[in-house]
Amino acid sequence: MSSSALVLFSGGQDSTTCLAWALSRYERVETVGFAYGQRHAVEMDVREPVRRELAGLSDDWGRRLGPDRVVPLDVLGEVSASALTADLPFGTRPDGLPATFVPGRNLVFLTFAAIVAYQRGLKHVVAGVCETDFSGYPDCRDDTVKALQVAINLGMEARLVLETPLMWIDKAETWQLAQTLGGRKLVDLIVAETHTCYVGDREHRHDWGAGCGTCDACRLRAGGWARWRGSAAGSNAP
Ligand code: ZN
Repeated sequence: MSSSALVLFSGGQDSTTCLAWALSRYERVETVGFAYGQRHAVEMDVREPVRRELAGLSDDWGRRLGPDRVVPLDVLGEVSASALTADLPFGTRPDGLPATFVPGRNLVFLTFAAIVAYQRGLKHVVAGVCETDFSGYPDCRDDTVKALQVAINLGMEARLVLETPLMWIDKAETWQLAQTLGGRKLVDLIVAETHTCYVGDREHRHDWGAGCGTCDACRLRAGGWARWRGSAAGSNAP
């Protein structure tokens, strides 16, 4: 039980890095994803190939990776209109939050993940939320996650631990973390298979992966890649 984890896995760069992090650390690792009426289901489509290829990177990882589960949360798209779930323009809302903000989304995800972890007997709940590349999502903040952990454990009479390995690192360091955890093979897998682009573009290929190249998610991913490769040029990293 103590060496077990449930990873919130979306098929993107961050959650794939978190899954590799968990596979490096815990004996039993399961994954959960949420279908909430995303405009583009591309991320959901890449989840299974990414899981399969991760499991193939090492015998330990293959042995440790357990089942996946997708929780339908279409209701989230019904009760909140955002650029992620509805056909609204991207950009900034009048209150300064990004148009992709779905209020409370991560609160809902973490809570449902905690329910799944509780039922599956998994101790740690791992999420790829991050404060560093602050994207304006208040439910990605460290204080939010810590407060929710207290509420979940009180409300469920549990001792779950919410883990956020990316909380204080930036996108360049996230690429480096992948390199450290799984070497070039893991970096290549993340580039080729994971999906981050908000508009669901899998046609345009870049050295950092597929995407439109202009949405916020693509710019963060590409910028992190460029900084990581730039710093790698001066060291012994590939
Ligand atoms: Zn994009």
